[in-house]
Amino acid sequence: MSGPGVVVAIDGPAGVGKSTVARLLAIHLGVPYLDTGAMYRALALHLLDRGIDPDDREAVAAALPTVRIELRLAPDGAAQVLLEGRAVEGRIRAPEVSTATSRAAVHPEVRARMVALQRELAARHGGVLEGRDIGTRVLPEAAHKFYFEAPAEVRAYRRLSDLRAAGRAARLDEVAREIAERDARDREREHSPLAPAEGAVVVDTSSGTPEEIVARLVERIRARSG
Ligand code: C5P
Repeated sequence: MSGPGVVVAIDGPAGVGKSTVARLLAIHLGVPYLDTGAMYRALALHLLDRGIDPDDREAVAAALPTVRIELRLAPDGAAQVLLEGRAVEGRIRAPEVSTATSRAAVHPEVRARMVALQRELAARHGGVLEGRDIGTRVLPEAAHKFYFEAPAEVRAYRRLSDLRAAGRAARLDEVAREIAERDARDREREHSPLAPAEGAVVVDTSSGTPEEIVARLVERIRARSG
């Protein structure tokens, strides 16, 4: 991939469909796709593996200089997150990792580290970046910003389907509780809380297939690009 391409920021709560839509949109636009949550998840996994309490700001900050988190562009255009040089996708989706992730993500030291990597990728290649603070903090100058929304029940059901598709036993009430707690923490934290960015287009993802939602975004992007 040569030269920076278009930059698209997508934010929203858990289970709203950001990953699926962002991945398809990135393919359509010919830019990398970056799931920024996977970066925070990789760090949380590292902390859990070492018995470090994700709430303990000092301990988490002390662990940061020695942990290696990198992004590698895969042939399909997705940016793969590497922890200590290894792909960790298979281990970062467990509910206990999700909870530890949102706990560790409140610390400004953690955020600074991830934001720097995210900005570097976008500056080099452009990209569709999705997370909680892409439009507000990481890339406030992004040409195209979207904020995804859907009712809590729809999001819980979607997350349940994802977990079951990945072969995990999961119950709807437990999944609903886990994402409600995580959303509250993400919205209420002091640093880079989840919120629609200024100028973001709010997209209701409760109806329509991922392809239909991508088509809506592409239409917006075209209209804005003139
Ligand atoms: O998107 P995903 O559910 O994988 O994100 C996991 C957690 O990582 C979120 O609940 C949030 O606490 C954190 N996160 C964040 N900022 C981002 C992306 C994710 O704080 N840009």
